[in-house]
Amino acid sequence: MTTRLYTHPIFLEHLTPPGHPERPDRLRAIERVLDEEAFAALDRIQAPEGDEATILYAHPADFVARVRAAIPDEGIARIDADTTASPKSWQAAITAIGAANAAVDDVFSGRADNVFVAARPPGHHAEKTTAMGFCLFNTAAIAARYAQKKHGVERVAIVDWDVHHGNGTQDIFWDDPSVLYCSTHQMPLYPGTGAKTETGAGNIVNAPLAPQTGSEVFRDAFLSRVLPALDNFAPDLIIISAGFDAHHRDPLAEINLTEDDFDWATGQLMQRAARHSGNRLVSLLEGGYDLQGLAFSVAAHVGRLMKG
Ligand SMILES: [Zn+2]
Repeated sequence: MTTRLYTHPIFLEHLTPPGHPERPDRLRAIERVLDEEAFAALDRIQAPEGDEATILYAHPADFVARVRAAIPDEGIARIDADTTASPKSWQAAITAIGAANAAVDDVFSGRADNVFVAARPPGHHAEKTTAMGFCLFNTAAIAARYAQKKHGVERVAIVDWDVHHGNGTQDIFWDDPSVLYCSTHQMPLYPGTGAKTETGAGNIVNAPLAPQTGSEVFRDAFLSRVLPALDNFAPDLIIISAGFDAHHRDPLAEINLTEDDFDWATGQLMQRAARHSGNRLVSLLEGGYDLQGLAFSVAAHVGRLMKG
C-alpha cells in the first residue's frame, strides 16, 4: 500500500485558550510518533492551501462570511462556549480542507492507495450553518462533495468513529442519499444527537455506545451495523472521520477502546475499500485528547493503512 500523510505547520497555529483539550500539542504528539522508523515509508506531503470556494459545497456563503468575520486580529475569540478562533485559524481551517481535497485527488489518481490527514481544527461537529464543538468547517463533508463534483463519483461513505456523534456531518447529508454517514459514538454525550432512530433519507446509520463499554461492544456495532451498511451502499470512496477519543485514556469520554481496536477497525474499512472502492480510503483526524492515547492510536491506525 502507498500511504500518504498530509501535515502543515499552520495546523499548530490554530490556538485555543490555556487548558483547552483541542490544542497544538495533539499534532506534536502525532508527528513524534510518526517520525519513528516504522513509518519511514510514509509519503509525507505538505498540505496545499485549500480553495475557499469548496467550503460552499457544505456551507452557505453567509455562514462562511460569519466565520471569517469572527477571526480575531489578535488573541483568541470565542465562537461558542468551547469553540474558538485565533488569527491563524482561518488559514489552518482552509489548509485542512486543502489537504482533505488533495487526499481525495490522490486516491483517485492512484498516487496513493490511502491517505491520513493530520490537521486541526477538526470538522465533524460543524453543521451547515453552525460552527461548534471545536470545529469551524466540516472538512469531511466538503471532501465528500469534492469527490462527487471533481471526480464524478456517485456514492461516498463517511465512517465516523470519533467518540462524539458527528452532528454536523449528519446535518449536512440528512436528505442526501448519495452520501452514507455511519457513526459509532458514546451516548449520552456531547452533542446529544446520534440516536439509532435518526436515519435521514435512509443514509444515516447511528450506532450509539453506552458509557463504560469497550472493545466488544464497539466491534459488535461495526460488524452488525456499520459494515453491512457499507456493503449495501457500495461506496466509490470511504472517508474516515478518525477521532481517537474513544481510547480508554481519553479525558472527554468513557469508552474503553485500545489502539488494537483502531487497528482492527482500520483493517475492516480497508477490506470494504478493497471490495467496493478500489482501495480508495481517506482518513481525516478529528478528536483525541490524551496525548499518549492519541499517539498510540494514530500509530496503530496509520501502521494498518500502510500494511494493508
Ligand atoms: Zn470527539
